[in-house]
Amino acid sequence: MARYSSAWETAIEQLEEASKIAGLDPAVLALLKEPQRVFIVTFPVRMDDGSVKIFTGFRVHHCHALGPIRGGTRFHPEETLDDVKALALWMTVKNSLNGLPAGGGKGGVICNPASLSTAELERLCRAYIRAIAPLVGSWQDFPGADLGTDERTMSWMLDEWEQMHGLRHDPAAISGKALVLGGSEGRPSATGLGVMFSVRETCRVLGMEMKGLRVAVQGFGKVGSWAARLLFEQGAKIIAVSDVYGAIFRPEGLNPDEVFDHVRESGKVQGFSGAAAITNEELLELDCDVLIPAAVQSVLTEENASRVRARIVVEAANGPTTPEGEQILLSKGVFLVPDILANGGGAAIAHLERVQGLYDHYWTEEEVQKRYDIIFKQVYGQVYRIAREKEISMRMAAWVKALRRIEEAVKARGWV
Ligand code: NAD
Repeated sequence: MARYSSAWETAIEQLEEASKIAGLDPAVLALLKEPQRVFIVTFPVRMDDGSVKIFTGFRVHHCHALGPIRGGTRFHPEETLDDVKALALWMTVKNSLNGLPAGGGKGGVICNPASLSTAELERLCRAYIRAIAPLVGSWQDFPGADLGTDERTMSWMLDEWEQMHGLRHDPAAISGKALVLGGSEGRPSATGLGVMFSVRETCRVLGMEMKGLRVAVQGFGKVGSWAARLLFEQGAKIIAVSDVYGAIFRPEGLNPDEVFDHVRESGKVQGFSGAAAITNEELLELDCDVLIPAAVQSVLTEENASRVRARIVVEAANGPTTPEGEQILLSKGVFLVPDILANGGGAAIAHLERVQGLYDHYWTEEEVQKRYDIIFKQVYGQVYRIAREKEISMRMAAWVKALRRIEEAVKARGWV
């Protein structure tokens, strides 16, 4: 059986390849090959039956040369330190790529949020943020939501952190919280919006129309469902969507708003009326224009990449394509928009959320989305130009642009 690269191995391979193209100083490369700080915390949580369970969590600060750490928090039963390290490295690169004054980090807890009651989940969130509290703060580390966490979990974390700090209110300490606590308009759809922008800009450079574009989306969670809904609004035809239980396919197109309502009622996409049930593997190989992996890492591999029929792959998930899988896709002429560019909407709007929190002045959804659109168009254009000039992939072009800025900051600090 083929052995797939872990997320950390994939991230290091991408870093090494891009640093060669960018001519990165070897000392900077050596610095970026390990996180600057790794925190492993264990903490007790009281269960509803009175027993106590010990949980393990992580917070990794990959590189803080460009500014305070930013990055999401994942609650997942198979969370590993290696995954969190890889995701932290990708955050360093993503924040740099978007021109943000921010370093990269990531957090996670090994847990299955679906198996916890609301009260247990709240106690776990509060215990986790207490365990990592010395790291957290608007000018130190600004944890946000990611896989398995949401507005509710981040609101509990903000409340706990503020309660620990006496009379202090600091909405810029935690991102992804409720609007009423200082969250940002447009935050829930932020990453999906970036995915839609990625498809829009790619259509522009390839001379394709958004209208009628056949799109398949793996993962119908926060990112995938928003991407599907925003693309549908632009006239795209969403022919398939999936979740962890399986996929649904309708060649004439699905209405993602109706699928969303169905998922809210039934808990899964399958069973949606008028759509055929297929597997997640089949979804990845559908005849479509755009394939959007928006679930987990390492799903496009040397095993299945040759069977992908999409013209464009937009990586909404982090690390969905292994390096071996990417080679195959590129050799087939697939246009691949890499994760650090395609899913940077969360990072960019988290930045705008922090700015609003620091100013204590809040913008409308339209203002937030306009600001992100300006950032995105500029970054996409620069990455595309580097890719064309150097005849390299969009992923390498994005990495090269990001690494140059990190190197400048590392050198300006006199670290190397
Ligand atoms: P989520 O938990 O809201 O949704 C995940 C979706 O993927 C769900 O539909 C789930 O059922 C499905 N899924 C889980 N395991 C699967 C599997 N093995 N096969 C197929 N489907 C599976 O998570 P999310 O926030 O939408 O994040 C999705 C991806 O996007 C992750 O890789 C995450 O790291 C990345 N990402 C998220 C954000 C964000 O703002 N939430 C930002 C950047 C990147």
